[in-house]
Amino acid sequence: MERLAVYPGSFDPITNGHLDIIKRGLRFFDKLIILVAYNPNKSGLFPVEERMELIRQVVGDDPRIRVDSFSGLLVNYVRDSGAAVILRGLRALSDFEYEFQFAHMNRRLAPGVDTVFFMTDERNHYVSSSLVKEVASLGGDVTGLVPHAVVDALAAKYRRK
Ligand code: ADP
Repeated sequence: MERLAVYPGSFDPITNGHLDIIKRGLRFFDKLIILVAYNPNKSGLFPVEERMELIRQVVGDDPRIRVDSFSGLLVNYVRDSGAAVILRGLRALSDFEYEFQFAHMNRRLAPGVDTVFFMTDERNHYVSSSLVKEVASLGGDVTGLVPHAVVDALAAKYRRK
């Protein structure tokens, strides 16, 4: 049977931390759906379509990866997609509390769906989309923390603002 996992997140924008989780996820799962999960009442820096486009550029043409977006209850998407696993990354203790609640709530809502965590890579443990945006907005160099396409997209965004 094909092992399919859904990796949900805001991805506003995708960072090298996310990419690391994706690459490692592909060692354990046959297919991965990278899901830009969004709240229609909250706007991020990048519109959902741009976030998806950046992810596509960065992961390239890999038949094992699908990029999608969704704004409803995550477990409904996961069940409809036929996946049984939600993939998440864990950085420091600060992620744990939230991820713990999120995983338990999802298991309560959908007992057949489980969450698998990958511990952050030592090079990316402090990398988050929000910190990267803050640094880039102040003119700091984020090369090495995000893929090149994202460095350029951030520069363009903040130049326009
Ligand atoms: P969310 O808003 O749902 O937390 P994010 O895009 O910030 O979405 O993150 C998606 C997932 O990727 C989360 O599980 C988060 O912990 C994980 N993640 C983000 N950055 C890193 C990183 N540097 N290393 C490991 N996991 C990460």
